[in-house]
Amino acid sequence: MILNLEDELLDLLSNLDVKSFIMASSAHEETDLDVAFVEGSVSTEEGLERLKDIRKRSKILIAIGDCAVWGCVQAMRNQEMSMKERMRKVYDKEENFYDVLEPKGLSAYVDVDLEIPGCPIDKIEFLNAVLSLLHGDLPEVKDYPVCVECKLNEYQCLLVEKGMPCLGPIIVAGCNALCPGLGVDCIGCRGPIRDETNAAEELNVLKEKGYDEKYIKNRLKFFGANFGEIAKLSKMLEKKQPGKGGK
Ligand code: SF4
Ligand code: SF4
Repeated sequence: MILNLEDELLDLLSNLDVKSFIMASSAHEETDLDVAFVEGSVSTEEGLERLKDIRKRSKILIAIGDCAVWGCVQAMRNQEMSMKERMRKVYDKEENFYDVLEPKGLSAYVDVDLEIPGCPIDKIEFLNAVLSLLHGDLPEVKDYPVCVECKLNEYQCLLVEKGMPCLGPIIVAGCNALCPGLGVDCIGCRGPIRDETNAAEELNVLKEKGYDEKYIKNRLKFFGANFGEIAKLSKMLEKKQPGKGGK
């Protein structure tokens, strides 16, 4: 997405001294940094060591993308079984040949100064963050749901009017309600709103609309499995009888 900033990329790069950007250049310098943008979830010991090293070398560390913020899709299976059990189930062996950890966002391990959510990130949101940094500030963090942007655009509410399983009420804004604007319900690709998400209420609303608990649990976990409220709710639902599927 950063490289897709075709019209702005040259201006942007002329204002930055890029030390490492492996997707864009083989030039790579391990040095002290003003700002590190880190993507990907922490899912190996090696990755964790690398993250800690980057944190030590950086004045500001920014997590970009849902993997780096919450762990994203690969965190869906977290807490379901230990790695030992999983190895036994898949390979019929108990040894852990892979140095894997349950996927988590960066803030589970190190201090993070800013999170830019999205799967993928929005390139303009990234650009605005860099512009704020160049002016010596961190950008404003959005702490309200996609529904706010949906209402500001005067889109029809797909949840209320059509009974579609929209997650807009618990997902952090910033996409300008892209999907509802196209008549598609929000699947939550920007992740839940930190400290504000009421996942239990979303569960109740979707149940009232006729969706069963298993379907709702999987939908909530898709991008938000590591989010505290969703993890708690999923555990509670998993203890109950599994549901029958979608609506
Ligand atoms: S369509 Fe979705 S995002 Fe828009 S107001 Fe309804 S619930 Fe919120
Ligand atoms: S509406 Fe939801 S799924 Fe669509 S881009 Fe926004 S956060 Fe992602």
